[in-house]
Amino acid sequence: MAQVQRFLNERILPNEQTYLDQLVGTEDWREWKIPPIMEELKAEAKELGLWNLFLPDEGYGAGLDNRDYAPIAEITGRSFIAPEVFNCNAPDTGNAEVLVKYGSDEQKQQWLEPLLAGEIRSGFAMTEPAVASSDATNMQATCEIVGDEVVLNGQKWWTSGAGDPRCGFFIFMGVTNPDANRHERHSMVLCPVDAPGVKILRMLPVFGHLDEPHGHAEILFDDVRLPVSSIIAGPGRGFEIAQGRLGPGRIHHCMRAIGASERALQRLCERAVHRVAFGKPLSNLGGNRDIIANSRMAIDQARLLTMKAAWALDTMGTFGALVDISAIKVIAPNVLQAVTDAAIQIHGGEGMSDPELSRLMGMARALRIADGPDEVHRGMVARLELKKYV
Ligand SMILES: Cc1cc2nc3c(=O)[nH]c(=O)nc-3n(C[C@H](O)[C@H](O)[C@H](O)COP(=O)(O)OP(=O)(O)OC[C@H]3O[C@@H](n4cnc5c(N)ncnc54)[C@H](O)[C@@H]3O)c2cc1C
Repeated sequence: MAQVQRFLNERILPNEQTYLDQLVGTEDWREWKIPPIMEELKAEAKELGLWNLFLPDEGYGAGLDNRDYAPIAEITGRSFIAPEVFNCNAPDTGNAEVLVKYGSDEQKQQWLEPLLAGEIRSGFAMTEPAVASSDATNMQATCEIVGDEVVLNGQKWWTSGAGDPRCGFFIFMGVTNPDANRHERHSMVLCPVDAPGVKILRMLPVFGHLDEPHGHAEILFDDVRLPVSSIIAGPGRGFEIAQGRLGPGRIHHCMRAIGASERALQRLCERAVHRVAFGKPLSNLGGNRDIIANSRMAIDQARLLTMKAAWALDTMGTFGALVDISAIKVIAPNVLQAVTDAAIQIHGGEGMSDPELSRLMGMARALRIADGPDEVHRGMVARLELKKYV
């Protein structure tokens, strides 16, 4: 933590503006380039061993469990570029975990090694425009086995990272066995971004921003033919892999959201003590002290609950941690949203055009939907609570 904090303070935060200055801000995602400062910072972090810290498996990562890594994820949440600098960015983290756990030797060599080296990036193509995708069993795209090939067809959207010039592959989820029980119909398939039949149709804006140079793509998979060895862990295991993939990933997202909340609270307080209205600092007006106190208490509660979820995951596995993981997936993004909203408010008109606060608000709002909307997670908490009484 001390090393990550120092690197963040000395190298990452001072270079955020350089990153933005170097970013090619064009509407056409095909022209996106990676700001050179990103690769420079990655090389420095790698050299210091601050690399792949999210992976508990010592053969691949730092050997930290979820409890160890969670506070580090919080530190990285204080900068929008930090997760990538440490090669700890979504969706690569979840995709790497899938390959470590379920990948064949060949799949690991082809995709996991360059991903962990930071040479390529990746996407996770599950959500579809045509169906309510918060229910993973709804996915309609197909990956049919024909001879020694698997053939992908269907339309996906919100595939984050697909616009990144370094994106090498997608993990595609589709139906292989339509007649199997609903949790055994789907498979996950490794699909190179340049496979014939993969057509990136557009990047979807988030509150009007394309999130370049990574983007969120709508993609048509049109008769994409791949060797059957591209299926991860064998046909019919897609739902199982999807469930396993999301436990650690949610802890990472939530701890980063808590780090981001700290940054929003810092911005709120700095503004509140330095700006004067009606003869007093804003911090001494109206209910502003209550807002600051409530923000501090909410962040600290969210952190403790997330650490509890990390402990539950480490000690009891995904199924022992279901309630805690769903609980934090609701709590942390909502805390970030509330604190960022308060920070915007205290900045007055300036708050509405502050790039950092706008980005934090976009992140909070999207996180309340991505990886399962709030309602689905509340449903899980309620279901397991009620189970005690029936
Ligand atoms: C910025 C961003 C990045 C994303 N990145 C990825 C990615 O990389 N890969 C990927 O595959 N997907 C990604 N997604 C997609 C995201 O995971 C889905 O949008 C999400 O799972 C919801 O699916 P849906 O959009 O089909 O909404 P639907 O399933 O149609 O749900 C819509 C709404 O219905 C309500 N609802 C649904 N279920 C219930 C329930 N049980 N109880 C009460 N109300 C309910 C909720 O209000 C919900 O928001 C991303 C989304 C965003 C915004």
